[in-house]
Amino acid sequence: MNAVELVWIDHSIAYRIGDTIYMNYNLLKYPEFMTKTLMHEMKHSLNYQSKDFLLDIKESTLWDNILFCLKNPRGFIGFLPFAIHNKKLAIDITQLTIYAIFAVILWVILN
Ligand SMILES: [Zn+2]
Repeated sequence: MNAVELVWIDHSIAYRIGDTIYMNYNLLKYPEFMTKTLMHEMKHSLNYQSKDFLLDIKESTLWDNILFCLKNPRGFIGFLPFAIHNKKLAIDITQLTIYAIFAVILWVILN
């Protein structure tokens, strides 16, 4: 496992870009959820691969994420499929894929 840097942020929940893991400092209030989230982010690869998508589906903590966001509303920013990171556009491929699947389902239902 590669060494990673942990950076505390005031929005989203947690995400990883390269060898840096960004985590909302409000996670410190929920040590169990924070540990689970950190362990998950550590498993992600440096560059997004298909196995990262499978990891997110397999280890989905959607309900825990929603509960966290209801208490820490800036966490909802993490549900956006796009983010501006260091003045560059970062795309969350997992989120984008899930939104695309929902869009197709909705399109099929409405047509
Ligand atoms: Zn993940």
